[in-house]
Amino acid sequence: MQKNKRNCPVCASEHNSALPKLSHPEWNTVKCSKCAMVYLDESPDYESLSEDLAWTKQFAKEKKRRKEKEPIIAWLDAKTRWRLHMFRDDEWAYISDKVAGGNVLDIGCGGLNNIPPQFTPYGIEIEKQAAEISDALMRKRGGHVVHAPALDGLAEFEDGFLDGIIMRSYLEHEAQPRQVIEACTNKLKPGGAIYVKVPNFDTINRAVRGIDWCGFRFPDHLNYFGIASLKKLAEATNYQFELRNKITRYTNDNVHCYFIKQS
Ligand SMILES: [Zn+2]
Repeated sequence: MQKNKRNCPVCASEHNSALPKLSHPEWNTVKCSKCAMVYLDESPDYESLSEDLAWTKQFAKEKKRRKEKEPIIAWLDAKTRWRLHMFRDDEWAYISDKVAGGNVLDIGCGGLNNIPPQFTPYGIEIEKQAAEISDALMRKRGGHVVHAPALDGLAEFEDGFLDGIIMRSYLEHEAQPRQVIEACTNKLKPGGAIYVKVPNFDTINRAVRGIDWCGFRFPDHLNYFGIASLKKLAEATNYQFELRNKITRYTNDNVHCYFIKQS
């Protein structure tokens, strides 16, 4: 597999320190010396991401690995899944809190169209088969899906075309998250919003479980964002940052937030 060297995905610094306890034998987790962002210092190339590392396959493998390693915890986890739903409303509707209607793009849409019905749905998906499935679904509602890496896919949309963008469990996979966020600026209308959901490096669960925390997935999770690093990313790219899960900022395994384009 071809690997590409990475600088800090938030501030572009090449200086970092190793986090051996949070690394995989083949993939190094490091912390940026300048902005404290945690990330993998290498990424697999897009070719392997499109075919071999398709996240759906990775996820199935990871679930199996966990089950074998920790059968009791995996069993308990499966039996107590309901706890995840207790306080959770519909994440797909979160974009509706900031955007009333119009064109909404789901980056990393998978084989789905879960964009709420008041929007015309668009998608970008790197995995070929998933892109075909979601394209058929979105065309029924007047939109479509581009099969491409995010930056190439975004280039296909006209400037000012989008009212909102959804990045749900996507930005942690992206080798160039800052470039993608920057590319979104011109595609959004003034006041448009990006809803971002990523694994929360600041969660207590991560501190307790260490390398066994569910947010670690090698090598398909390249960026380990916390609330501070997301805020830095938003501000460095001229968006207004808004945290959605304020109360559960240390107990939620995910961060939910908005990047709002200044009008
Ligand atoms: Zn940095």
